[in-house]
Amino acid sequence: MSSVDALHRESAVDLARACAAGERSARSIADAFLARAASVEPGLDAFLELDAARVRAQADAIDARRDRGETLGPLAGVPVAIKDLIAERDAPLTCGSRILENYVSPYDAHVIERLRAADAVLFGRTNLDEFAMGSTTETSAFKVTKNPWDPARFPGGSSGGSAVAVAARMAPLALGTETGGSIRQPASLCGVYGLKTTYGRVSRYGAAAYASSLDQIGPFATSAADLALLLGVIAGRDTRDSTSADEPVPDYAASLGQGVEGLRIGVPREFFGDGVDPEVRATVERAIETLRGLGAETRDVSLPHTEYGIPVYYLVATSEASSNLARYDGVHYTTRADAPDLEHLYTRSRGDGFGLEVKKRIMLGTFALSAGYYDAYYKKAQQVRTLIRRDFDAAFADVDVLVGPVAPAPAAPLGAVVDDALAMYMMDVLTVTANLAGICALSCPAGFTEGRLPIGVQLLAPPFAEPTLLRTAAAFEAATDYSREEPIA
Ligand code: GLN
Repeated sequence: MSSVDALHRESAVDLARACAAGERSARSIADAFLARAASVEPGLDAFLELDAARVRAQADAIDARRDRGETLGPLAGVPVAIKDLIAERDAPLTCGSRILENYVSPYDAHVIERLRAADAVLFGRTNLDEFAMGSTTETSAFKVTKNPWDPARFPGGSSGGSAVAVAARMAPLALGTETGGSIRQPASLCGVYGLKTTYGRVSRYGAAAYASSLDQIGPFATSAADLALLLGVIAGRDTRDSTSADEPVPDYAASLGQGVEGLRIGVPREFFGDGVDPEVRATVERAIETLRGLGAETRDVSLPHTEYGIPVYYLVATSEASSNLARYDGVHYTTRADAPDLEHLYTRSRGDGFGLEVKKRIMLGTFALSAGYYDAYYKKAQQVRTLIRRDFDAAFADVDVLVGPVAPAPAAPLGAVVDDALAMYMMDVLTVTANLAGICALSCPAGFTEGRLPIGVQLLAPPFAEPTLLRTAAAFEAATDYSREEPIA
């Protein structure tokens, strides 16, 4: 495809190669994606901010460097949309919250430094559930992002804006964050690839903290190869995040062509329980058959503590959130309420600034950590978390990768779950255990419902086995064509 009209359909791999070779300017790529966004964004609301001048200035600087004869980086001229929870110098950083409505970041997150060094073009700030707390992108204080396959439905969350930006080809790549499914679930509901990286694989320096023992940054893309490209740029040790691992970064692209011949795939029976929608179940079973047809061996496995994932996650995540969000106090960098004294300054700033979902979680977490309840709730949750981790250890003693659904159901209509806490939390039942165990997992497009809503399949692998995930996803992608379908013309 060479016409400018079709540029937004090209892969990140092809765009970067063409830009580095001087066949396309970064400016022409940026303009094509800005034009695409101008035509589809008004109906989708994926972005909280997309400043064309800032985008073009970056692209022009990249072109100028190439014109001077400099060799460009691996993401030369490739637009990357950024979840508005990841700090970008001189750009807004709202976290989807009124309390940070006017905040502008004075510094770059580690992943943003890496993107700049790779000659990517930072392409706007994407919408999210407030402080990443939610599964639909409807708890954002600012706007409701729509699913491009059916704008009357939600895109999933909390990284819904990033998923939609990529699904609607407003950007070839995007970054999101995961605490309990916030990349995989919207990727599944929007028909794109989304990777939750191993805990410690990517530095969280500059990502606003929600639950620090769970949070990770990860990529969205429209192919396994593009996912590998972005992962290779952001992965690796950073001394400013003490949990970032000193683990070599493999050549992720090299794993893509390895196929699945002889790969041992486990099918956890707890991922196929009564709560899983029949079309989702049928789609995942078909995907397993496809992988078997490609030479993988499959066997049944058990993750017996899966049913405790939701209570454990919502105790650990809210406890950590209650501590992490104490910094938004009206004194430091947040919106400050008028108040006669210090105590009212705190309570009014936080009372006005936080939305209901965030307040609910701060209260729950504070309660779970309080004297007299700590042993019964937080400590018990941590003990069960260890059992969940051991379930995965036992399963991975026999298999290389696990396969199951991502979300129990396809995208539902806007408003269907956001006011029903249990319904919303149950959407995370098949994703939170990977976060609690610290392993890596991805969602890849695997089919559609009869009503043409995307369904993803989840692949899970041991810590730092991202190459196994990419290899499996690439083999599945080559054998199917779900990821080539487009939601809107
Ligand atoms: N939906 C989950 C929550 O609300 C997960 C969110 C996330 O991964 N950030 O906590």
